[in-house]
Amino acid sequence: MNLILLGAPGAGKGTLAAYLIEKMGVPSVSTGNILREAIKNDTPLGREAKQFMDKGQLVPDEVVIGMLKDRVAQADCAKGFILDGFPRTIPQAEALDTIASIDLALSLEVPDGVIEGRMTGRRVCLTCGATYHIKNMPPKMEDVCDKCGDKLVVRKDDAIEVVRDRLATFHKQTEPLKDYYGKQGKLKSIDGTQGIHETERLAVEALGL
Ligand code: AMP
Repeated sequence: MNLILLGAPGAGKGTLAAYLIEKMGVPSVSTGNILREAIKNDTPLGREAKQFMDKGQLVPDEVVIGMLKDRVAQADCAKGFILDGFPRTIPQAEALDTIASIDLALSLEVPDGVIEGRMTGRRVCLTCGATYHIKNMPPKMEDVCDKCGDKLVVRKDDAIEVVRDRLATFHKQTEPLKDYYGKQGKLKSIDGTQGIHETERLAVEALGL
């Protein structure tokens, strides 16, 4: 199955993707993680993307579309994949339709106020991409990644002013995708406010797993 996870930044797409990888036996592809890796390695792509990401803006379509195309062409995506954070604009969705056939877009519904509360507690591992939350999903040891042992940090784009800009970007550019996939009969929406396990249960139900 080729699945898209839709939802505002902080809706829980990354956390749900980590669960669904095991359940569905396919990899997840996070354009945000690929871009952060490029920034960490100080590549030309990373340097370009950073200017947009630090301001809570989207990286230009042609940059992320090329990146996504290369990633899903890799062997591990042959049996299916979960997209986390792509597509984020209508042109990205149109490009994706020429790259792969999408079975379903699952939208995680979370109001802005709840998201703002969540983001301030988010911690990420820049080495392996794992995400945690100081209250909802704390690492075993404070500020240390359970998976790879590296230090956890607050992402620059999780600062409150940036979060508000990212939510505005989401409503303007990404939310129209619900309509895009709805019209194709490929949209399912679930409540993402009820905690991690309930969200996982609702997703399993919606996906018929
Ligand atoms: P994320 O980790 O998915 O929340 O992404 C973090 C940031 O990376 C976003 O705020 C954007 O600046 C950039 N980004 C990630 N995915 C995309 C995408 N599909 N299109 C444009 N920008 C993206």
